[in-house]
Amino acid sequence: MIVLDRVSKRYAGDVVALDDVSLRVGYGELVAIVGPSGSGKSTMLHLIGTLDRPSSGSVHVDGYDAAKLSDRELSALRASRIGFVFQQFHLAPGVPVLDNVADGLLYSGVPRRRRRERAEAALARVGLGHRLGHRPHELSGGERQRVAVARAVVGEPAVLLADEPTGNLDSSSGAGVLELLHDLHRAGTTVVVITHDREIAESLPRQVRMRDGAVRHDSAFVPGGVG
Ligand code: ADP
Repeated sequence: MIVLDRVSKRYAGDVVALDDVSLRVGYGELVAIVGPSGSGKSTMLHLIGTLDRPSSGSVHVDGYDAAKLSDRELSALRASRIGFVFQQFHLAPGVPVLDNVADGLLYSGVPRRRRRERAEAALARVGLGHRLGHRPHELSGGERQRVAVARAVVGEPAVLLADEPTGNLDSSSGAGVLELLHDLHRAGTTVVVITHDREIAESLPRQVRMRDGAVRHDSAFVPGGVG
């Protein structure tokens, strides 16, 4: 599903955010990316999500070589195959939850009415079928993140990328969001989640530990490890 081959990412000012990273994530895996702040986790997730291009090395997502696609083709790949969830929710303020989620299908060619039907189904799936007309500020943090998850999966992406999805939540809301990720995983979605939370990381089937822009430990490659 995801293949990073000898990927490096340098930013201006000689910052090496990723240094020769190789990683494979299979279809249907649920993977935690862990490591200290500044270790390159978000950079890696952005490259997997084709939001950014590597300085060297190659990124394949769902069989596509990101380097061989134009910006327009990458946008299409993201719209159809990749869902994103961020720590800060990134919902449109003042816009009803149903429309926030339906807008996740804006570039998919799905007609408006069908977008709204699918948004309603996605919100029901995350337990918010009774909140369709609420605006984000009328919801708790945990509910907002559920909306963000619904928006990310309304297009039925092959892979869901989540950057600290529980970082702004209390532990019980965080556990609810985590349970959603498990549900999606069980339904066949590949899920990659960055987390600072040790307990969360350890509850997931595979952990990839980053440090100084490199993968320092991958539980998939430990004798007896899971993955
Ligand atoms: P993490 O997600 O593990 O906290 P990041 O991937 O955000 O780490 O950052 C890795 C390194 O790259 C850090 O040193 C950070 O300051 C640097 N970095 C990240 N994004 C940029 C950017 N857009 N421009 C310059 N440096 C960046």
